[in-house]
Amino acid sequence: MMLGSVSKARKERFQSHVIGLNNKLVEKANLKTKRILLLLPHCLQMDECKIRLTHNIYNCKRCGKCEIKDLITIAEEHDLDLFVATGGTLARRTVTDLRPDAIVAVACERDLSSGIADAYPVPAIGIPNMRPFGPCINTKVDLDKVREAIRSLSTSSAGTRPAK
Ligand code: SF4
Repeated sequence: MMLGSVSKARKERFQSHVIGLNNKLVEKANLKTKRILLLLPHCLQMDECKIRLTHNIYNCKRCGKCEIKDLITIAEEHDLDLFVATGGTLARRTVTDLRPDAIVAVACERDLSSGIADAYPVPAIGIPNMRPFGPCINTKVDLDKVREAIRSLSTSSAGTRPAK
């Protein structure tokens, strides 16, 4: 079991390194677009909140108990498409349906590394989530990193989309 957890940590470090390299390459390409998709994992939603966000994240009541509220505000400020995906299949379908020019994705290292590869040739910046309560429950994300990633891809810093 110990060996298993060491190798899992090693794998995660490797995936994190690959995601970092990918992000640098995407930022270096200096792509600027308005058509950015912000893709989030559903584990960012507080587990006690029973509102269904997968088909419409704007169902969120914005109570502020989890970062979904802040991420909606960020998406509105930058006029982004915003979706919560419950897994790789839904994430892939969202990308196929929306055909964004670029993606900012939040997820665990494993899902990000496979998701970035699946999204190719659409450039994607991956931001690993934080898991203070363990995997897949009440996860968090560094909102400054999300803003920074959007700024590096976006043509505009102010949103024009009306609040939903
Ligand atoms: S901000 Fe509040 S209403 Fe929105 S998803 Fe989080 S807990 Fe639910």
